Amino acid sequence: MVGPVPHTAQRPIWLCRECQEPWPCEPARLELQMQFRNGKASLAAYMAGYLTDAIGDMIKLLPDPNPAPDSQALFDRFIAWTNPSLHPDGGDR
Ligand SMILES: [Zn+2]
Repeated sequence: MVGPVPHTAQRPIWLCRECQEPWPCEPARLELQMQFRNGKASLAAYMAGYLTDAIGDMIKLLPDPNPAPDSQALFDRFIAWTNPSLHPDGGDR
């Protein structure tokens, strides 16, 4: 029996294996928030590791190093959602 495909990142393109959204997709975020529900700081640190990996992969994939990956967008995508107080707009509106 084959279970559902987990919402994990497909490297080096960093799209979800299941829904093809930029990873972490919404289900992946929910899953991670469940895993780290007692440690938001740990989740941020965990996602920072992925962010570092993703930037490394993106730099390798880009044919031209300019423009560099948008670090603000990547921060929002990987880190900001883990803690609304980190978000420049102060979280969801
Ligand atoms: Zn997904």
